[in-house]
Amino acid sequence: MQTLADMVHAFRLYAVCDPCHRVALVDLDTLIARNGGDYPIERVRMRLKCESCGKRSQAIRIVYVGPEGRASGFRYARNSQPPTVDRNC
Ligand SMILES: [Zn+2]
Repeated sequence: MQTLADMVHAFRLYAVCDPCHRVALVDLDTLIARNGGDYPIERVRMRLKCESCGKRSQAIRIVYVGPEGRASGFRYARNSQPPTVDRNC
C-alpha cells in the first residue's frame, strides 16, 4: 500500500471533485506532519472532502514530478492550479 512517504519525494497528489470539477493540490507535507509518513494514501482518499461543494468525491490524481520536481518546484506546491489538459472543442 502506498503511503505519504512514498509519494512526497516524487509525486503530487490532486483531489478531484467530479460534481463541481474542482481540483485541489493535496498538501503532503502537512499530512505527514500531522499523521506521519506511514499514513496510507487510501485513507487520505477516504477522507477527502470538497471545499467547494462539500461532497466526498474520493477521487485522486497522482502526478509524477520526479525527485527534482520537489527541490526546484517548491513554489508550485503552493499553487493550487493543476496541470491543464488541452482540448480541441
Ligand atoms: Zn465539489
